[in-house]
Amino acid sequence: TTKRAYNFNAGPSALPLEVLQKAQAELVDFQGTGMSVMELSHRSATFEAVHNEAIANLRKLFAVPDNYEIVFLQGGASLQFSMIPMNFLTEGKRANYVLTGSWSEKALKEAKFSGEAVASVSTKENKYKNIPTEVEVGENDAYVHITSNNTIYGTQWKTFPETGNVPLIADMSSDIMSKPVDISKFGMIYAGAQKNLGPSGVTVAIIRKDLLESANTNLPTMLKYDTFVANNSLYNTPPTFGIYMLGEVLKWIEAQGGLEQVAKNNEAKAALIYDAIDNSNGFYYGHAEEGSRSLMNITFRVADEELEKQFLKEAEEAGFVGLSGHRSVGGCRASTYNAVPTEACQALADFMKAFQAKHQ
Ligand code: PMP
Repeated sequence: TTKRAYNFNAGPSALPLEVLQKAQAELVDFQGTGMSVMELSHRSATFEAVHNEAIANLRKLFAVPDNYEIVFLQGGASLQFSMIPMNFLTEGKRANYVLTGSWSEKALKEAKFSGEAVASVSTKENKYKNIPTEVEVGENDAYVHITSNNTIYGTQWKTFPETGNVPLIADMSSDIMSKPVDISKFGMIYAGAQKNLGPSGVTVAIIRKDLLESANTNLPTMLKYDTFVANNSLYNTPPTFGIYMLGEVLKWIEAQGGLEQVAKNNEAKAALIYDAIDNSNGFYYGHAEEGSRSLMNITFRVADEELEKQFLKEAEEAGFVGLSGHRSVGGCRASTYNAVPTEACQALADFMKAFQAKHQ
């Protein structure tokens, strides 16, 4: 049998075992070509079918309406921090950022290179423990930018803010396709694939067509969304293996029962770990305020600092991977993305209870 770790990495992170096994089976001879997907020309009919199927399945499973384009990009979500203002912060307008963590701060920093960009709301004073209840939208805003799930602090938007006529843009890197979302509320959604959708190297962007029509045009070819839209994300060589893997992850999501079922699984998984925290009488405590808790990144502390080190050490010895908090905040973090099995979350909850019983 295959030895699989209890992988709670924040990204790159766990992939479905079924997907890895299928990729393994197809690796040296993909569909009778005598080649792996990695060795195919990106202009071949065989690869193009993989590419188009991935886009079509993404549209179907995430219920992306017809007035949105789906593109595959490179450079991670981090390059989107730059491309968004380059394309959409048009002359005389202001970019509006809602700061809920380090990734929103980074997005804002890049926007400032393109023009006026402000943090209209921030929860930094509260140590990014919560998601704001309201946002402030200015008449002159080119867009409002949010981070739907804050990977480092472990908070998540439960309902998305109303921004009227101003397009809402969301960095969904750490919770894309973890649940159904009403796409029509957004001007644009983007995400690096390496948490819920596949390996690193592919970035997904879903962009409303009217935004593309009014975008800045005087941009380098590779930094302009229109280049990717006009060429079906095949202007230059795309990350072919990553796109193939993303396509297989989408098929796996469909086999799970689609996003409704995936969302239920994710709720149940997170509840196992949050319950272990909440029922610990303060032995463990969460970072996020209850109404803002993420179902993807569960951030917590062991109240006793020495015991926290011991917890992380014993957890590692017991086969749990990736439980240290982000280097900027410390503590513990369990990332429970789509492909993390319920059994792994149950095993962690059991381990937490046993550790508490032993050391309290
Ligand atoms: N946004 C969020 C919410 C993230 O979690 C991350 C990566 N952890 C990024 C952006 C940056 O993504 P990338 O490394 O793909 O540039």
